[in-house]
Amino acid sequence: MNVFHHLDATLKLGDEERMLVESVRKLARDVVAPRAEHHDRSGEFPHDNVKAINELGLNAMFIPEAYGGAQMSYVSYLECVRELSKACASTGIVWATNFHAIKPLIDFGTEEQKKRLLPVMLDGGIASLTITEPTAGSDATGMKTEFKPDGDSIVINGTKTFITNGAHADLYMLFGKWSEIADSKGSISVLVLEKGTPGLKVVREEDKMGLRASSTAALAFDNCRVPRANLLGNPGEGLKILLASLNKSRPSVAAHALGIARGAFEDAIGYINERKQSGRKIVEFQGIQFMLADMATDLAMCEAWLWQVARMVDEGAKDFGIEASMLKMRASDLAMSIATDAVQLHGGYGYCKDYRVERLMRDAKITQIWEGTNQIHRQLIGRSFIKR
Ligand SMILES: Cc1cc2nc3c(=O)[nH]c(=O)nc-3n(C[C@H](O)[C@H](O)[C@H](O)COP(=O)(O)OP(=O)(O)OC[C@H]3O[C@@H](n4cnc5c(N)ncnc54)[C@H](O)[C@@H]3O)c2cc1C
Repeated sequence: MNVFHHLDATLKLGDEERMLVESVRKLARDVVAPRAEHHDRSGEFPHDNVKAINELGLNAMFIPEAYGGAQMSYVSYLECVRELSKACASTGIVWATNFHAIKPLIDFGTEEQKKRLLPVMLDGGIASLTITEPTAGSDATGMKTEFKPDGDSIVINGTKTFITNGAHADLYMLFGKWSEIADSKGSISVLVLEKGTPGLKVVREEDKMGLRASSTAALAFDNCRVPRANLLGNPGEGLKILLASLNKSRPSVAAHALGIARGAFEDAIGYINERKQSGRKIVEFQGIQFMLADMATDLAMCEAWLWQVARMVDEGAKDFGIEASMLKMRASDLAMSIATDAVQLHGGYGYCKDYRVERLMRDAKITQIWEGTNQIHRQLIGRSFIKR
């Protein structure tokens, strides 16, 4: 595993970041990983893990000091996502979704909004990024949820589907269309909806193939009234905010996928160094070594690209959408293929729930679907080369 130790050692972290990352690794290993099978089998939302994460004050690492946080580098944030996701992919995405949902508030909110709403997250709150609708998935601009201004309020009507943390969120970063703007894309707007707002209803939670302990909810808004002070930016600025936010959340879902990939790879290596057939360890067969060579090389290269993109963000790059798309696409395809190969390397045992790789293969699949399906990312990357 030397190559991966070398790669991990390239992470440039400050002293405080290193201490925090070490605490998260310990939490992931000693607390989160041992509970993962229970959460997968029961489908129970990992409140216990969320509580343990909040005891480390982890939400503070993406909230600026000016608002009471203790902001650290994007590199260190991604490493925390990766470690938590390797231990329990459901828990990893529950926490990462807090960042995905709150980042637009940090980047585009007013001082008043940040001072009022960010303490909810510092107190251990849960957030949802609320975009997808039953008839608007890959093309989110087809959303229909309506924001109608009414004096000092905005009245919301519509539905959303597949919302991570949806049944447990304290804050919803909610996208919809401004009723007074006719242009379909130009009307997209975004606001913060707070838990308990009358008219907000959790319609149901999905029964999923993987990530079984993360909540994926359908929501309905029936004349939900929020103060106009909760609108982010101006009416019609939602699409700009959405695209900027996705650029930061896509490396994060890639880190989640790479946590699953690393877990599957390590399990496979452990197993084939023990299991024997024909008097030899499985790892000693050349056909298996060729498989390992491809798995390890692809994983190492993709991890290196994760840290490259993370460094770009930390250095203040603005134009990294294609890099983020490449990373999300490759990391998620790799998570799926490495988890599938890890099951293969376990033989029949890999197909049974006694071994973690069975869960990792189910958990990996969603990473190719969300935050833009990989078909959409291939399209984005490919068309970036059209000469205009
Ligand atoms: C577990 C889970 C958690 C999720 N969490 C969230 C969340 O927190 N917030 C949120 O807003 N959403 C969330 N989503 C929604 C997710 O982002 C969407 O499912 C995804 O964007 C795809 O949309 P869709 O399911 O409507 O599929 P569709 O858009 O209907 O796509 C169906 C198929 O057609 C392909 N396709 C569509 N358009 C094109 C095209 N132009 N070119 C080529 N192929 C195309 C797709 O790649 C896919 O294979 C979640 C989904 C799941 C399952």
